[in-house]
Amino acid sequence: MIDFKFEILFESKKSKARVGRIHTPHGWIDTPGFVAVGTNGTLKAIDNEMVKQVGLQLMFCNTYHLLLQPGIEIIKKAGGIHNFINRKLPIITDSGGFQIFSLAYGGVLDELKSRGQKKKNQGVLKISDEGVVFRSYRDGKKILLTPESSIEAQKALGGDIIIPFDELPPYHTSSNTLMRSLERTHEWEKRSLAVHLKNRKNQAIYGVIHGGIDLSLRKKSCNVLTSLPFDGFAIGGSMGKNQEEMLSMLNFTLDHLPKELPIHLLGIADLSSLASCIPLGIDTFDSSYPTKAARHGSLLTKKGLLKISRKIFANNFNPIEKGCSCYSCTHFSLAYLHHLFKARELSALTIASIHNLHFMVELMANYRQKIYLSKI
Ligand SMILES: [Zn+2]
Repeated sequence: MIDFKFEILFESKKSKARVGRIHTPHGWIDTPGFVAVGTNGTLKAIDNEMVKQVGLQLMFCNTYHLLLQPGIEIIKKAGGIHNFINRKLPIITDSGGFQIFSLAYGGVLDELKSRGQKKKNQGVLKISDEGVVFRSYRDGKKILLTPESSIEAQKALGGDIIIPFDELPPYHTSSNTLMRSLERTHEWEKRSLAVHLKNRKNQAIYGVIHGGIDLSLRKKSCNVLTSLPFDGFAIGGSMGKNQEEMLSMLNFTLDHLPKELPIHLLGIADLSSLASCIPLGIDTFDSSYPTKAARHGSLLTKKGLLKISRKIFANNFNPIEKGCSCYSCTHFSLAYLHHLFKARELSALTIASIHNLHFMVELMANYRQKIYLSKI
């Protein structure tokens, strides 16, 4: 038995949206929920105590980055990721696969431009059925990451939810390559699960559904992976070149996933995607978008994006958003924040990031209220 459970509290009468609660050994996550990305064991510009105060229930940490710096051994010595970063709330870690294949093919945007050509100086030396050999950007050492070693690393980190090792094929790829990649991913996920099941360590594991935008492959991926004892599912791989492509793929894929398990959408939580994906029944979403936007001086408000660098804010002594109860809005004015950004002060990034995260937490709470009223 593990202390992991997904409870559906309410299902909308209007759509497939649902309000739920994911229970983990470090507390619960209300769903639909936003998951912030704390790549290196911290959100950028905000320490973990502040994150707790904002009310963020689940944080994503990236195994690939932690593997290279500070290294798994250090985190193990600290007693696991929760102890090391002093976060007593739920944490999800990924397998490292996404980052490694992003090294090989570039991010989605680069890749759409390069049409799937491998980048030079990519750091990835060899991809085989065994796993991936890549060169550490820190010290040039060769590292072999396999389904087994990824899960072992995630066991040592001790996140509440872990992810099997998968291959991320480029968006521009032939259907044969995509099919072979899917088969490899399924093998890797099975191997990952086998290692996990030998020693659950009170962690839950989500299977990652792949297949790009090929619906028959998505269906196949659902069939293969839902026959295995995963605790939830994440939707990964290429989501398409625009939102329309993504939504038709998601709509189809969700019909082939069990309704009683939590569903996570990997790497997507911009406001418009949230509005379209919550009615499809997706429960959690991760993205670095709100914190990245904050660091660029883009503040999320109910009226839309506010660019703090605009001159009109230089003598506006209101908070970022009137009525916002966040730490930033209850302590500082737009004029002050405008000044901090102009003066390139680091506290500007912290103040802006806290507000944007608070906005996301409130936004998701509002979505849950709307689902309870079947307005979504
Ligand atoms: Zn605020």
